[in-house]
Amino acid sequence: MKPTVAIHKFSSCDGCQLAFLNMGEPLIDLAQKVEIVHFAEAGMVNPEAEVDIAFVEGSIYTPEDQQRIKTIRQRSGLLITLGGCATSGGIQALRNQTREHWCDALYPSPEWIQTLSTSTPIADHVRVDLELWGCPVRTEQLIPLLTDLLRGVKPTLVDEPLCQSCKRSGAACLLVTAGKPCMGSITRGGCGAICPRYGRACYGCSGPVAAPNTAPLKSRFSALGLSPEAVERHFSMLHSGAKPFLSEGVKDE
Ligand code: SF4
Ligand code: SF4
Repeated sequence: MKPTVAIHKFSSCDGCQLAFLNMGEPLIDLAQKVEIVHFAEAGMVNPEAEVDIAFVEGSIYTPEDQQRIKTIRQRSGLLITLGGCATSGGIQALRNQTREHWCDALYPSPEWIQTLSTSTPIADHVRVDLELWGCPVRTEQLIPLLTDLLRGVKPTLVDEPLCQSCKRSGAACLLVTAGKPCMGSITRGGCGAICPRYGRACYGCSGPVAAPNTAPLKSRFSALGLSPEAVERHFSMLHSGAKPFLSEGVKDE
């Protein structure tokens, strides 16, 4: 019997689910090896199904989300978060410190918005077996993960800083040679250092490494001439809810 898989969505932009849809031929191969029972974006809808592996995209944002994730946890063998929203609370966690400010700025009738006061990662609510970082996650992360799971092997997830793969690629360091505020030393690698290789400083989309040393990097950014506000904003773009970045968040204005 094939393992069953569900892909669930919470508060998110759907971008990480595209890592499945963009697989190309490996997706056909995957469909022969597993039974995908719930993947609304691809047309399969059975959110109540019991499955062997549940992928969860998105953060917990409403009281309904809080209940639904508990049910999914009970009905899933493995639960894997898919991307930054599910793993750190995502870009929408910016509102955690500034809810009234954002609601007032974005909605003409903010009193109609019925949400929790925070956007939080899945692991704050239920046990998570594996976390896939990235905004978005990439097909290149998913294929080896799925291959390992289907072979019964514990997947190995990247936790080396981006600087290591950047150095291996032979790119000149933008922080050192061009004075650009690059987050690579505290950000997970695995993206192939695509931004630094094309002259753009890393902005941390893959999330923090397990033990990032943020203080020296903040000092370095300040030495480059960034204002305190600009330094804070580098740490609070996509993963402001990630614990290593929490104290760096932008305060309400
Ligand atoms: S992590 Fe980024 S790409 Fe993925 S769902 Fe959230 S906002 Fe979209
Ligand atoms: S450019 Fe960025 S990622 Fe590359 S070595 Fe320098 S700090 Fe690290």
